[in-house]
Amino acid sequence: MIRILHNRVILFLSILMAFVPCVYSQNVDIKSQDLPVKYEELNAIQFIEAVKKSGGTCIIPIGILEKHGPHLPLGTDLLSIREVALRAAKEEYTLVFPQYYFGQIYEAQHQPGTIAYSHEIIWNLLQETCAELARNGIKKIIIVNGHGGNNNFLKYFCQAQLESKKDYGVYFFLPAKDPELEEKLKKLRKTEGDGHAGEVETSEMMAHRPDLVNPTQAKIQSGEDLARLKDLKDSFTGIWWYAKFPNHYSGDGSPATVEIGELVIKSQVKRLSEMIRSVKADQKVLELQNQFFQESENPLKTRQ
Ligand SMILES: [Zn+2]
Repeated sequence: MIRILHNRVILFLSILMAFVPCVYSQNVDIKSQDLPVKYEELNAIQFIEAVKKSGGTCIIPIGILEKHGPHLPLGTDLLSIREVALRAAKEEYTLVFPQYYFGQIYEAQHQPGTIAYSHEIIWNLLQETCAELARNGIKKIIIVNGHGGNNNFLKYFCQAQLESKKDYGVYFFLPAKDPELEEKLKKLRKTEGDGHAGEVETSEMMAHRPDLVNPTQAKIQSGEDLARLKDLKDSFTGIWWYAKFPNHYSGDGSPATVEIGELVIKSQVKRLSEMIRSVKADQKVLELQNQFFQESENPLKTRQ
């Protein structure tokens, strides 16, 4: 009896041993091959691996909470730009920072659902987010913006990175126009201009989140340009957008199509994955920044 039991224990142990290497190698595979790109989905061990695999890069896709005509969700900008960032990160591995809705949107404060933080908060939050990423080994931070109202802020934010010494670089994704895409869009589009919540933006959302689009409602408000400051010459004023589009809607989203949306998303994904690749390969930005900060400490010694 004891002998039978003994044999069974040995049999059980040998079956167990046969599985151990298999389970172990599965873990190794998961670690190296199936790393999530979403920052929040990585565990701490995987994070170390992800920083290595990404070449110390991370995208911060930035959006906003604002009205998008009468037919698109408040989070449209972030939903769409995250879709682009996530697809690009799968083509060229990088980390993608969690939902970031904190940007410049004073011009839509009169519309329901807008969350407009103070300029101090949006500045400090982005600066501290970059610094915290850098402290975690991410020395190349890629900002990918989905909200037009952020463009001036983000360019100035990048310029201001030279204010004081940094051990990281901030790279702002600013793709040039894609002539091939423009040609195709010209044939497909039914409206002029690329307005806020207009045909193209509505199409993008239709391509990846059709459940959130209601194109039949797109005409219940007007996206017409009222041009209420047309007599003002050679000026820029903060009220310019409200003067043109008080409904916080520009153009017409009703003729939107999945075809247009996919075209635009695919073009952005291609450009962004190429940009990620070039940022990973780049050694110059940090090298020049270091040289610049060193010279800035004693400008009189800078070679003339
Ligand atoms: Zn938008």
